[in-house]
Amino acid sequence: MWEKGIPPAMEAGGTNPLDAARVARVRQNEALFREVNEQIASLNQLGAQLDTVGLVCECGYATCGDVINVHRSVYEAVRAQSDRFIVASDHVISQIESVVEQHVDFVVVDKKDGLPEEIASATDPRA
Ligand SMILES: [Zn+2]
Repeated sequence: MWEKGIPPAMEAGGTNPLDAARVARVRQNEALFREVNEQIASLNQLGAQLDTVGLVCECGYATCGDVINVHRSVYEAVRAQSDRFIVASDHVISQIESVVEQHVDFVVVDKKDGLPEEIASATDPRA
């Protein structure tokens, strides 16, 4: 579990090109985990038809490997919108996303308008 607060790569803000590159890397990270979760969800569909799927936290922290158990219907609703991600409650990066749903073990975040949302949409495996 990552400690609460802003990750080292984000603390300088987002005002110079280097920071923009860091934000882009965070976005790529989140997009990668979303692809991993799509694979997990489809594999589970072939198996026991479980109500919940064990997903990888889709936060932007490079070192996060948290597993989050999400009800399939919740997962499908989140995936229906390309700028939404499932992250652990204390892994929200407030500069680029806002919480839209609060669950017991996780939250659903929505990408803020602009670059974060554009990258989220451009990398959506279902688009
Ligand atoms: Zn995380």
